[in-house]
Amino acid sequence: MQANFCPRCGNPLRTADVNGQMRQRCDVADCGYVHWDNPVPVVAGIVELDGMVVLVRNQGWPDKMYGLVSGFLEKGETPDAAILREVREELGLDAQNARFIGYYPFFEMNQLILAFHVAASGDIVLGEELADIRRVAVDRLKPWAIGTGPAVRDWLAARNGQVTETMASHAALRDWLARQTSNP
Ligand SMILES: [Zn+2]
Repeated sequence: MQANFCPRCGNPLRTADVNGQMRQRCDVADCGYVHWDNPVPVVAGIVELDGMVVLVRNQGWPDKMYGLVSGFLEKGETPDAAILREVREELGLDAQNARFIGYYPFFEMNQLILAFHVAASGDIVLGEELADIRRVAVDRLKPWAIGTGPAVRDWLAARNGQVTETMASHAALRDWLARQTSNP
């Protein structure tokens, strides 16, 4: 996200070279704030209800655009708790368990998507952020190319006993991390 003013001292930010990368920086000598523009984590949920997957259209989205329930983390909240809260807030559904599918960089939005499968129950009550929902049978669900789409693709593949490339690389990374932490 572009920032125009320094959040510390209010001065306009300038584009400058910081350690070889162009960044927005505050020129005030005793401030020196740098806008790093790090990716923001976003939780997303494949919500399964009565054998159907619930896709949502947010307020302000084009008419035919549906996606997964998603949202930002609250301060101090784990990703699992965040997606269960989003499912409650946006769909009014009771959900107890979020199963991690994988992480998906969404470079176009400068986000890192953390995707979960959420088995839910109850009756849908649309939250303020949603314009509409659509229920899609699992075998008619078609993954889309960007954003949360690859998470849908991986989840569908896993249901069919397949392992996709992203899942394989996630598994490899997990193994590597486990080795790092088990080595004293
Ligand atoms: Zn400043």
